[in-house]
Amino acid sequence: MRSVSAAPVVFGPKTKTVRLSSDAIHAGNLILINSTYALQEGLCGKCLVTVDEINHAVRLDLRAASVLRGLLEEIDPQGQIAMVSGFRSMREQSHIYNTSLKDNGIGFTEKYVARPGHSEHQSGLAIDLGLNRPDIDFLRPYFPYEGICDVFRRKALRFGFVERYQKEKEAITGIAHEPWHFRYVGAPHAEIMDNMNLSLEEYIEMLRDFPYGSEPFRFAHSSLNVEIFFLAADGGGGLINPAGLTGRPLYLDGSDPLVSEATVSFEIEEDLPYTISGNNVDGFIVTIWQRSQELQLRCGSHIEEHSASARGALPWQRSQELQLRCGSHIEEHSASARGALSGQWR
Ligand SMILES: [Zn+2]
Repeated sequence: MRSVSAAPVVFGPKTKTVRLSSDAIHAGNLILINSTYALQEGLCGKCLVTVDEINHAVRLDLRAASVLRGLLEEIDPQGQIAMVSGFRSMREQSHIYNTSLKDNGIGFTEKYVARPGHSEHQSGLAIDLGLNRPDIDFLRPYFPYEGICDVFRRKALRFGFVERYQKEKEAITGIAHEPWHFRYVGAPHAEIMDNMNLSLEEYIEMLRDFPYGSEPFRFAHSSLNVEIFFLAADGGGGLINPAGLTGRPLYLDGSDPLVSEATVSFEIEEDLPYTISGNNVDGFIVTIWQRSQELQLRCGSHIEEHSASARGALPWQRSQELQLRCGSHIEEHSASARGALSGQWR
């Protein structure tokens, strides 16, 4: 006969503390780069890779390049899509800007070419694409809303690329409509931005409504549920700049008071895959991946209960907690939990 222990065993979620240096707000997929917020991080050459075998001049950030390759493999454009411009150094951006000033004048240049230090291309996270035809316009390649270009545009969202400068957002982005310019923000952020019709400026602002410690922003991506929260670089959930994004510029010379050795931290359940990106303004966006749909489907009558368990869960290591909560369905849930989360998003 088994003995019963006096105190019940409690399987609480194990957590760990993630510490971030507050100057890391200038790095990651979600950094905002526009006329107000300059790129702060220098890119090392080895983080840049070529995207395709044909055009070695076009390079991107390692992660953005590998995702773009996967996207192109899926849509198989048969050479119809040309890579026009990827990463640009400060020198290249200055050259492009000055040449355009000379050739096209200030009006055109301010609409279509970012000032040196303020171009997304300098981050390696942006690419200009053109329909492959003779005489591709370098500054304004043709990338229409039909055919293979539109197949790309729609599929790109799932892979984390957004059309960055949309027509109705010109007043917010400060850049004219550019159907050819795609920015890697990562999954699931591109899909959320598209679903909610938000520019990156607006998306970053919206996420401030979900500060660390409160209810996160929730979104379903494939079979995974995603939770997103904002972590202010000053450690609090409050706004550094309540007036909006435009009142607090950061400068290339590093004179911003946020650039320091200070650290902020957050608690996360162990084993949950997560990603972190700075917003290049005042904090971090933390994205946590949780698999709950599979559990919900398998559990039939206990959807609510399991949804709750799964939300608090759990790769396979912590299947014990689910077993305890699920009573009669121990085996089934143990199996579900074991099949959960491959960690591919880590
Ligand atoms: Zn561009």
